[in-house]
Amino acid sequence: MVADAWLSKELEDKRVLCLACAHACKLAPNEFGKCGVRVNEDGKLKLTVYALAAAANIDPIEKKPLFHFLPNSKVMSIGTVGCNFSCKFCQNWEISQHPQSHNYEVFGYDLPPKKIVSLALEAQCKSIAYTYNEPVVFFEYTYDTAKLAYEKGLKNVYVTSGYETRKAIDELTPFLDAMNIDIKFFKDESYRKISGAKLKPVLETVKYAHSKGIWIEITTLIIPRINDSDEELRDIAKFIADIDPNIPWHISRFHPDFKMLDRPATPVETLKRAYQIGKEEGLNFIYIGNYPDTDLESTYCPNCGFKVIDRFGYIGEIVKNHLNEKGECPKCSNPIPGVWG
Ligand code: SF4
Repeated sequence: MVADAWLSKELEDKRVLCLACAHACKLAPNEFGKCGVRVNEDGKLKLTVYALAAAANIDPIEKKPLFHFLPNSKVMSIGTVGCNFSCKFCQNWEISQHPQSHNYEVFGYDLPPKKIVSLALEAQCKSIAYTYNEPVVFFEYTYDTAKLAYEKGLKNVYVTSGYETRKAIDELTPFLDAMNIDIKFFKDESYRKISGAKLKPVLETVKYAHSKGIWIEITTLIIPRINDSDEELRDIAKFIADIDPNIPWHISRFHPDFKMLDRPATPVETLKRAYQIGKEEGLNFIYIGNYPDTDLESTYCPNCGFKVIDRFGYIGEIVKNHLNEKGECPKCSNPIPGVWG
């Protein structure tokens, strides 16, 4: 369904400025934004995927990944077609790049905000995640759902590439509890060449969302020969630690996909090297994802080393939360940062 994309500004000559993401598309009538789902219709910005979900699932929250946010709970996850990034390694390219490569055609099934919230409640989810593709491109759909979810006692989560404008974050802040933000690279050139975006807005989003009190976790997919140098990994870890050493950093394993089939999966030694670099830079919580055979998905108390949340098996399969009801280590009472209830 087509709906008003109110996060926008009307300009002269029926042009319109989109205020959702850092691309700041200025669109002439009938022109689509880079994301392929926001279009200028006669001087007004419209969203072509409102209430049109291309994917909806009930997942463990650990799969987002969020490890310090309502552990062992279920999350209703939704996404649409379209994306403001064009990552060559995208694992969800069939939905994220569909409109741009099919003359702005969209697909999905009818899933209005009210229905999402009722499905989430029925399934005993504790939160709703806007995920699979970049949620800020379907901002108005997420906003209406998040507001309704909040009124019903559910929390809301963005899984994002971090290209939100301050205005988008400001609008969402009353209802948005957590964000998992990708820092894909620490080189502007890589962002431009591989993802069709820039580095600086992403870093600004991380800082701004953190300053607004939204719970933040960061994910970096480590791609051989792209972002796996000690220097780049250290830059990312240092950037996170400078904001807050308690921000969890998820190091994720690359698998060849979409337009990036010319290199192998990330060697486990690289993941462990990244883990070590994160520790050296002072990060308290580092996790290795997409590789279940390590014990580096559990949470350890930074004060006494006790394993406070045990995770093993396929991601989110078995989670044993040993924190007390205040979110403290049961051994030394050190508070573990996160959203625990
Ligand atoms: S959300 Fe889409 S239309 Fe809006 S600025 Fe970003 S890419 Fe452009």
